[in-house]
Amino acid sequence: MSDHPLPTKPLVVKVGGSAGINYDLVCDDAAALVRQGVPLVLVHGGSHETNVLSERLGKPPRMLTSPQGFTSRYTDAETLDIFAMVYAGKLNTRIVERLQRRGVNAVGLSGLDGRLLEGPRKSSVRAVIDGRQVLVRDDYTGKVERVNTHLLRLLMDNGYTPVISPPACSTEGEAINVDGDRAAAMIAAAIGAEQLIILSNVPGLLRAFPDESTLISHIRYAELESALSFAEGRMKKKVLGASEAIAGGVRQVIFADARIPQPITNAMQGRGTVIAL
Ligand code: ADP
Repeated sequence: MSDHPLPTKPLVVKVGGSAGINYDLVCDDAAALVRQGVPLVLVHGGSHETNVLSERLGKPPRMLTSPQGFTSRYTDAETLDIFAMVYAGKLNTRIVERLQRRGVNAVGLSGLDGRLLEGPRKSSVRAVIDGRQVLVRDDYTGKVERVNTHLLRLLMDNGYTPVISPPACSTEGEAINVDGDRAAAMIAAAIGAEQLIILSNVPGLLRAFPDESTLISHIRYAELESALSFAEGRMKKKVLGASEAIAGGVRQVIFADARIPQPITNAMQGRGTVIAL
C-alpha cells in the first residue's frame, strides 16, 4: 500500500498560464492519474500568452489595481476577444490535444458552455490610477458564484475529463473574464473535491519572492490573512482562492511547481505550500 492512497473524490488541478510552465509534464502526470481511476478536473490559465498576443495585435495589456492592491486585467470587449482566443481557443485546444494523445478522453469547455461557470458581471470596477480612485465601467469581469456541477458529473460519470477555462458566463449570458484560481476554487468546492492543486512557475508561496529557498511549506487557514502579505500581484488571488476553497469544504489546497516531472503527484504528496484548516 502506498503512503498516499489515491483519491476517489474528484481532484481539481489548476495549471497556470505563466512563462516556464511545462504542460507536457502536467499532462503526462494527469494522464497517468486518470488511467489509475482518479476523477480529475483540469482548469487552466493563460495570462502570459494573453499578454503576448495582445502585444502582437497592437493592444498592449492594461492591468487595474484595486484599492486593496489586487490586480486584474482591464477587459474591454476587444480584450475579451483576445482573452477568449487564447484561453478557450489555443490553450484549451492544445491541452485537450495533449491529453487525447495520451489516451485521455478530454473535453474542453469554457465557463460559457452549459453555463458551467456563472456569476454576476461587475457593473463597475474601482481602480487606483495615478494615485486616484476611479470607476471603470466598460470592463467585462466578474466572479464565479455558481458551477454547473450537473454538467461536470454528466461528463465525469461517463469517462470524460473536463478541461475548463475562463471566460465565465454572466447572469445575463455575457462572456466575462474571471480569475482562474478563484474559479478553480469554486469548482473544487462545488464538486466536493478533497484537494485543489494550484500549479504555477514557482514551488509555492515564497516568504521572500523570488528566493525559492524561502518556500512556506504549510499555512493554516486561520493564518492565510497574514500570508497575503508575502504574496505580490496575482499571487494574492491564489491565496484568496485557497481561502475560498477551504471555506467551501476542500480539505487541502496545495500551491506547487508546474516545471518539474510529476507535478500533480508531487503536489498530492505535499510538496509545495499546503494550506489546510
Ligand atoms: P499563473 O499564471 O501560473 O497562475 P501567476 O503569474 O498568476 O501564475 O502567479 C504566480 C506568480 O506569482 C509567480 O510567477 C510570481 O512571479 C508571483 N509571486 C508574487 N509573490 C509571490 C510569492 N510570495 N511567492 C511565489 N510567487 C509569487
